Amino acid sequence: MKKIKDFTLEELKEELKALGEKPFRAEQIFHWIYVEKVKSFDEMTNLSISLREKLEQEYTLSNFNIIKKQESQDGTKKYLFDVLDGNAIETVLMEYHHGKTICVSSQIGCKMGCKFCASTGIAFVRSLTAGEIVEQIIAVEQDIQDKISNIVFMGIGEPLDNYENVIKAIRILNHSKGLNIGARHISVSTSGLVPKIYDLVKENIPCTLSISLHATNNEKRSSMMPVNNAYPIEELIQACKDYIAATNRRISFEYALAKDNNDNLEDAKALVKLLKGMLCHVNLIPINKIENGSFTKSTNENIIKFRDYLNDHGIVATIRRELGSDIDAACGQLRRKNL
Ligand code: SAH
Repeated sequence: MKKIKDFTLEELKEELKALGEKPFRAEQIFHWIYVEKVKSFDEMTNLSISLREKLEQEYTLSNFNIIKKQESQDGTKKYLFDVLDGNAIETVLMEYHHGKTICVSSQIGCKMGCKFCASTGIAFVRSLTAGEIVEQIIAVEQDIQDKISNIVFMGIGEPLDNYENVIKAIRILNHSKGLNIGARHISVSTSGLVPKIYDLVKENIPCTLSISLHATNNEKRSSMMPVNNAYPIEELIQACKDYIAATNRRISFEYALAKDNNDNLEDAKALVKLLKGMLCHVNLIPINKIENGSFTKSTNENIIKFRDYLNDHGIVATIRRELGSDIDAACGQLRRKNL
């Protein structure tokens, strides 16, 4: 059965036309799903009963069930959702002073194989559909009875390895007649799939692009992130420069600091050299230890020194607050869990 949340409003209008209905019905349905957040076609009371029945036969609303919900001492919530085919994914909700941010998964498992990430080591199953990405936001909003203001594609999976569905999900989330979450409040994080960065330029969606950099030379980066063998640092940085030139948008570089690996002054110097003059921001993430992982967190002293060196040399850098680590909800700790 077709999943109704997989359609943009424009596509839904075509679907309705094919059912012999007027396109404005699509707007009504869109409103019920994304503004009223109803869980059944039956609740769409301004549609005729016969249309509701027709929708019921052709489509599913595919509401996720919450299998498990954990709450951290800092207020972060981690959800394990049943995606209705025997698989499960994790989604995290974080509270910041500027609003609620949700960290969504884009795939069930991940193919990238980053050595420091908990999503590695469990077999990749499949990409999520656009509707399954969007449903994570709806299900959390339903649960907390509140609006989410920011979305980061930093959960399980590589969003640019599920390009079409991620773009479609952003268009659905962004729509003024639906959830109406501004593209500027949406961040897409990539391990560095260079051709897709060029594709993203053409979409004309003003979301934030985050690049998981983590190292400044190919030897070290390849040892942490196998994707670097396919798209080495020079190609990645060139793509970022081209992206900035074409969009005039600032890129955010993520750099996870691991003790005695990439956190010394030489690394900071190399990072300044690499990023000098680019319209960018560096997000320093104290690396989170994962089960059987060999990377450990840098000392607080080193993290601060690293940040200060960057800031003193013209690169704006901030340290990401660690949220949800007591419930394994921090960066890189999400896994696909079997039901
Ligand atoms: N695949 C995408 C998005 C998912 S990961 C990407 O690679 O960007 C989101 C961020 O968390 C990435 O920057 C990733 O490198 C980082 N991350 C992964 N494991 C981590 C860990 N153990 N500690 C800190 N950050 C981690």
